Amino acid sequence: MKAAPFDYCRPASIAEAVRALESADGDGKVIAGGQSLVPVLAMRLGRPAILVDINRVPGLDTIEKIDDTTVRVGALVRHSMLIDQTHLPLLSEAAKWIGHSAIRTRGTTGGSIAHADPSAELPVVATALGALVHVHGPGGTRTVGADELFVGPLETSLDENEIVTAVDFRIPDRAGFAEFARRHGDFGLVTVAVAEVRGAVRISIGGVGAIPIRPHAAEEILADGPTTDTKIAEAARLAATAITAASDLHASADYRVAMTEEFTLRALNQAIGNKAGVH
Ligand SMILES: Cc1cc2nc3c(=O)[nH]c(=O)nc-3n(C[C@H](O)[C@H](O)[C@H](O)COP(=O)(O)OP(=O)(O)OC[C@H]3O[C@@H](n4cnc5c(N)ncnc54)[C@H](O)[C@@H]3O)c2cc1C
Repeated sequence: MKAAPFDYCRPASIAEAVRALESADGDGKVIAGGQSLVPVLAMRLGRPAILVDINRVPGLDTIEKIDDTTVRVGALVRHSMLIDQTHLPLLSEAAKWIGHSAIRTRGTTGGSIAHADPSAELPVVATALGALVHVHGPGGTRTVGADELFVGPLETSLDENEIVTAVDFRIPDRAGFAEFARRHGDFGLVTVAVAEVRGAVRISIGGVGAIPIRPHAAEEILADGPTTDTKIAEAARLAATAITAASDLHASADYRVAMTEEFTLRALNQAIGNKAGVH
């Protein structure tokens, strides 16, 4: 299918891009890598009046370690660049699981975060790391925590005229990542990221809910006393009880629950067990 007609602009600054969205009166869309938006347009699931292409806005395509605790990733950083960076191995590992090489070459960090696909890897990692998302809108700039950003499938708390400019990912002390996908390049059926940040273990599970899920009961039992294998197994079991799994063409609800427990166990073992992790 072909997209419905639309206007197109390629602003030279973020302020200009925000003005273009504002003047579209709710009928404009940012385009970055186009890897999610173009299929939406082609299938006519969306018919924006104007596309605001941010690819020529300078300064959005860098990865910078801003201090010992934080790595700042610009909105236009491609998934392939995330794989190559060495500041944050968890991010590198997660990005390897995104689609295929062509998608990773075009798709962007800001696009993945703004698109908020419940099965996408980067929102899961952002949630595990308590990432801060920088946005620019008509009222100026602000930051939104990952826990407040994702509100539903393909839905964020951002205003329609706000643009993601960068994401600050915290550098964890230890981390683990495990994903189960039916075929290489498919969206994960279950994706789990675990990060220990300043002594606290955060677990984030994707693909089994509307947004990345934090199983708080599982995190809490890991907060007290020594981390034993029994405790890790119990945390994984509790994590599986935190999801509301549904059956569909790809898997039954029971299977999803079982996979959530198994892949949480694997990610926890990598991060805080005795096995090597993606630290
Ligand atoms: C075949 C296929 C397989 C895929 N597999 C996976 C996978 O396994 N895992 C995965 O995570 N993703 C997967 N993707 C999606 C891919 O990662 C996309 O790159 C990503 O979801 C969106 O990034 P983008 O830059 O392409 O965004 P675009 O397609 O340009 O935009 C997507 C949405 O985000 C908005 N947007 C984009 N940038 C910004 C911004 N800076 N600020 C505000 N809004 C913005 C757009 O308006 C649009 O609504 C797949 C895509 C395809 C086509």
